[in-house]
Amino acid sequence: MAQQPSGTELMDKIVSLCKRRGFIFQSSEIYGGLNGCWDYGPLGVELLKNLKDAWWKSMTYRDDVEGLDAAILMHPRVWEASGHVENFTDPMVDCKECKARFRADQIEESMCGNKAYQGRKAGKCAAEGKFTEARQFNLMFKTYIGPLEDSSAVVYLRPETAQGIYVNFYNVKDSTRQKIPFGIAQIGKAFRNEINTKNFLFRTREFEQMEMQFFVKPGTDMEWFNHWKETRKQWYINLGMSPDKLNFHEHEKLAHYASAAFDIEFLFPFGWGEIEGIHNRTDYDLRRHQEFSGKNLEYFDDATKEKFIPYVIETSAGASRGLMAFLCNAYAEEEAPTGEGKTEIRTVMKFHSQLAPVKAAVLPLVRKDGMPEIATKLYDELKKRFRVFYDESATVGKRYRRQDEIGTPYCITIDSETLQNQTVTIRYRDTMTQERIAIDKTSNYLSERL
Ligand code: ATP
Repeated sequence: MAQQPSGTELMDKIVSLCKRRGFIFQSSEIYGGLNGCWDYGPLGVELLKNLKDAWWKSMTYRDDVEGLDAAILMHPRVWEASGHVENFTDPMVDCKECKARFRADQIEESMCGNKAYQGRKAGKCAAEGKFTEARQFNLMFKTYIGPLEDSSAVVYLRPETAQGIYVNFYNVKDSTRQKIPFGIAQIGKAFRNEINTKNFLFRTREFEQMEMQFFVKPGTDMEWFNHWKETRKQWYINLGMSPDKLNFHEHEKLAHYASAAFDIEFLFPFGWGEIEGIHNRTDYDLRRHQEFSGKNLEYFDDATKEKFIPYVIETSAGASRGLMAFLCNAYAEEEAPTGEGKTEIRTVMKFHSQLAPVKAAVLPLVRKDGMPEIATKLYDELKKRFRVFYDESATVGKRYRRQDEIGTPYCITIDSETLQNQTVTIRYRDTMTQERIAIDKTSNYLSERL
């Protein structure tokens, strides 16, 4: 096994691979980029979709969770009730010397973004007292609904998807006849005007969340909290995340709505970072929406004839941050034979096959003897069922490397033996071993394994 890159070197390699192979591009790159925003290229969008599909299936293809897709823009009172207008703030300070802006609670780990001072730790200026007093800065993006730009027309781009679920709790319950305990799941964009964006997809201003709110009877909340905490960590492991790179971090300082909170953390090249939050939000949100909307949001329990406001256990995952964790988890450099008795270093993305953006590549060994025709026919058949790729340029060794680099689990090669006995070789990404199977069994072979 070749020595693995780590830290900044690893992060730089991943960012560069993402751009080169079409996973992630900087937003509005030709204009110099827009800070904190990223675009998903052809492979990135496929990877993101596979990740969201895996989450959606595991969270909603069950009896006790329903799906939802609420609008991004909501009534402004929602954000007053949720506490975001008042509390969704970060303390911000400005450096009097270099004029850069920082989150006051993250100064120690921040580097100066000002070009003239780049590479200098912000903590140094803090130690020398060069910062302004901290001011609270609200992270919600404000805009206006309709033609008038006045205070009565203010709306916000949602900073979390959860509130769309709370305000629809009764709609979902009544239309599905669900009884608690049950959950509502949603995937969607969220926006936060972060003071400092950093670490690629980790902290961005526009991102996607995959959230599930599970409504339970008060008193049973901690039991459900522990259940979801374990279930959600296991989900990452089932999708190939290495268990020693996952960790629980308990919050000592709780948000205004929570009575218990754990982060699921991943060991990124720059250190541990939250990828999902598991929160016991108590009855805070529904109670506040009852108060602010004037609508009765109590739940009536048929069995016990009790009335109460349900408690909520929230599992709040970042799709984009999770995608970055899966990218980091998959990246490996390994020694591989060149075919001439020598070895070279190959870069391989060891994605779980469910996540891999391309499932298989079809490769004619040479561009003659009828091999491209057979390969194209197989490719046309496979593409009806899977995301597959056809490649006939360069040596087969080079084509394998290209597929390794984007994490394609299977390469199917049409060679001279195919012409004689209608078999193909299947080459496995992780072990680089090969086996022969009948060409007409390829489609079923892939579907059994994917
Ligand atoms: P942080 O402390 O990192 O700012 P948070 O505790 O505010 O995060 P939550 O409000 O719990 O985060 O959000 C749930 C999830 O949404 C996070 O675990 C993360 O995966 C994702 N997320 C939150 N903020 C961002 C962001 N700025 N960019 C990308 N993903 C984010």
